[in-house]
Amino acid sequence: MTMTYDLRLHGGQVFLHGNGLTKVDLLIQDGRIAAIVEPGFEAAARETVELNGKLVLPGAIDPHVHLGKDIRVPKDSDDALLESASAAAGGITSMLVYLMSGESYNGVVPGAQQVMESDSHVDFGFHICVGSQDHVKEIPGYITDYGISSFKFFMNFRGEEGAYLGLPGNDDGYMYDVLGMAADHGAMINPHPENIELVWKLKGRPIDESRGPLAAWNASRPSFVEAEAVQRVAYMASVTGASVYAVHTSSTLALEAMRRQRESYGNLFVETCTHYLTLTTDSPAGTYGKVNPPLRETGDLESLWEALASGELDTVGSDHNARHRSFKEKDIWKASAGFPGTGGVLPLTLAEGLRRGIPLERLVDATSTRSAQLFGLYPRKGTIRVGSDADLAVVDLDGSYTINAETQHSGAEYTPWEGTEVPLRIVHTIVRGHFALRDGVLSETTTGTYLRRETSGATALATIAKEDQQ
Ligand SMILES: [Zn+2]
Repeated sequence: MTMTYDLRLHGGQVFLHGNGLTKVDLLIQDGRIAAIVEPGFEAAARETVELNGKLVLPGAIDPHVHLGKDIRVPKDSDDALLESASAAAGGITSMLVYLMSGESYNGVVPGAQQVMESDSHVDFGFHICVGSQDHVKEIPGYITDYGISSFKFFMNFRGEEGAYLGLPGNDDGYMYDVLGMAADHGAMINPHPENIELVWKLKGRPIDESRGPLAAWNASRPSFVEAEAVQRVAYMASVTGASVYAVHTSSTLALEAMRRQRESYGNLFVETCTHYLTLTTDSPAGTYGKVNPPLRETGDLESLWEALASGELDTVGSDHNARHRSFKEKDIWKASAGFPGTGGVLPLTLAEGLRRGIPLERLVDATSTRSAQLFGLYPRKGTIRVGSDADLAVVDLDGSYTINAETQHSGAEYTPWEGTEVPLRIVHTIVRGHFALRDGVLSETTTGTYLRRETSGATALATIAKEDQQ
């Protein structure tokens, strides 16, 4: 009896680790890559899709997403539907969503999971933001009960800064506890690195607004505020043995601070976001481009590309935040921080990276493979190999499109990249064998499922190294 596969992807150039782009066909069965074969190989398939030389990449993974109108927790159907549509349209097949609450997450995770499973186009996992001693105590349970192995904490939540989430002010002693707990349980800490005491100090200074709103915002939170916090948490990681993942790294100074700490301690990882690679204080986005850390200057953007090319930078995420436009159309001091960006992670990083001559291998690593490895999803996700989930982004390098609110699908109804021409196009996004996006059109049905992740950081990497040896 011969096997009939669910789907055959024929005639593409498939990215295979170690080989780069390879002319092979993919045979998909039950949502997984069942076989990788020569284009002439005979096999029965219920459906064959012609790719005519288009690129087939591992589906992109956005490691940094916020959902929900208050950006704390996805609550409504459209929180999941619209924002995951944005992701799928941009070649994302999995996203990791930050949950933020002052209460125990035992009362938060199941509801958030249900909302996402009902309406998400892409697979999803969660990070949890810890802010109280009770949260720290519950970390082992969050790992075993929910498969959540990465935890954010806000270094800037001092004094009353975290009160809006019902969180007490923290200090370096709290950081020590959080890092120690993560180290003991194979988890990773994703700190928001900002020295808020410096921000408070700088608040009284007169700010030159003549260079526009984004330059003024950057001047109010200069990059040494970020770099000081990065070096402090990275040093404390080495003291406690924790893995630390610096989220949304935006500046030359923060990169340098991390580089110094990495000379003596290895379990330190660096994320940047698409906006720090493609926008600066000179961009025309105005207050739509307000974000924390702020958009920086051209020198910072160039440093980040160098770090991406060299491998010093681990991942690219979006810090997606579907803050509605009504919160952004104010002066720079009153506008809300954050904007939607998950739809741009793959197309913008890929287009600009290729233009700069960065090897495809590095770009795939930063937009997919490395996130899968660091967050306990590899090799199920992040690579095209037999047995892995059939999570794929099919890219047409001869296509193009213009970024605007419509092509981004987000409920936020704007994008800081409005009008940007992208010299490639995501044609299909395939999530476990299902076309979430087909010929540029989103699916009517959503199939996103929850991703348990038992380990993150150094513990996850050690598991991969062990399996590779066997
Ligand atoms: Zn964030």
